Amino acid sequence: MMQETARDAREPIARIVQAIRERQRFVLSSHARPDGDSIGAQLALAHALERLGKTVRIVNHDEPPPSLQSIPGAETIDVAGAVTGQYDAAIILECSSLDRTEVAGLDRYFLVNIDHHAGNRLYGALNWYDPSAAACAEMVYDLVAALGVPLTPPIAVPLYAGILTDTGSFRHANITRRTFDICSHVAASGVDVAGVAAGIYQSGTIGRLRLTAALVDTMRLEARDRIALLHVDDALLRDTGCPPDDMDGLINLPLSAREVQAVIMIKTLDGTTRVSLRSKGEVDVRSVAASFGGGGHRNAAGFSIDEGPEAESRIVAAVAAAVESAAGGPAAASESPTASGPTPA
Ligand code: AMP
Ligand code: MN
Repeated sequence: MMQETARDAREPIARIVQAIRERQRFVLSSHARPDGDSIGAQLALAHALERLGKTVRIVNHDEPPPSLQSIPGAETIDVAGAVTGQYDAAIILECSSLDRTEVAGLDRYFLVNIDHHAGNRLYGALNWYDPSAAACAEMVYDLVAALGVPLTPPIAVPLYAGILTDTGSFRHANITRRTFDICSHVAASGVDVAGVAAGIYQSGTIGRLRLTAALVDTMRLEARDRIALLHVDDALLRDTGCPPDDMDGLINLPLSAREVQAVIMIKTLDGTTRVSLRSKGEVDVRSVAASFGGGGHRNAAGFSIDEGPEAESRIVAAVAAAVESAAGGPAAASESPTASGPTPA
């Protein structure tokens, strides 16, 4: 499968393989509020390193959300705001900048940065950054192969979980032929792929289901139904009984309507406001997030804001501009309501 690795990835992979061979004790970290790709990429790499006889700890700022706790090994992840142990290297997965981990002390170690987010800051002593990868888990697949570790189920299950979730269950434009090549190898390794999906998508809380109803009920539509605006706050989570870490994916609900081209979800929780953006096709919400100091991918991005509700109209205006520019400008947008429809599946 290594022949499927992008040519320009061979050199960084080779340097990371050498750095791993020369070292013994590793700490792995990923972004705060981890998602399926962060947990999947970490658990797969941790298992591969253990197969090589290395000592590995995974330290994240937050626990894996309920939907990811069925992935074997998720219970071994340490939750801490700082790392202090003796390690020969820290491998950071899925983070465009080191501060995305929200874990202090990582910069004291030899840093290896493995990520697929556009705009990665190249903060490592070794950097392997591939925005063409659908998931960081795809990159870890290549690294595991380069390390000569066989793709056994304890590695293949978390890799599949990362790819499944980061492609939106094989719906996003980030999918390539390589994605399916890797999944073919995962299936061949004996993984129960339907079981992995059920563990992630059919194991949520009743609170999440109640929140789903409330979100759709209170949704606001802007820009002639092209933008959906969702709000979550502490009171809503309390009333519905949804744990704050069981909201993953709910932002995608409005995209099921043909007219909706982008979704803005404003989460005001514990005194901080985070904004998540999702879009269809050419609508670039990463640039919108970047203009507010955040980042992400073209169709999935986010940022934090200090301001209160007054920021909302600016966010809606910025997303509306992104929708219009993808539709060929305001004129084209008003001529045909379907001009910026979803990319064909
Ligand atoms: P979320 O809406 O939190 O699921 O994030 C969507 C995408 O945007 C993910 O790829 C995140 O890693 C990225 N993202 C979210 N917030 C930020 C931020 N403040 N800075 C950089 N990237 C972000
Ligand atoms: Mn990812």
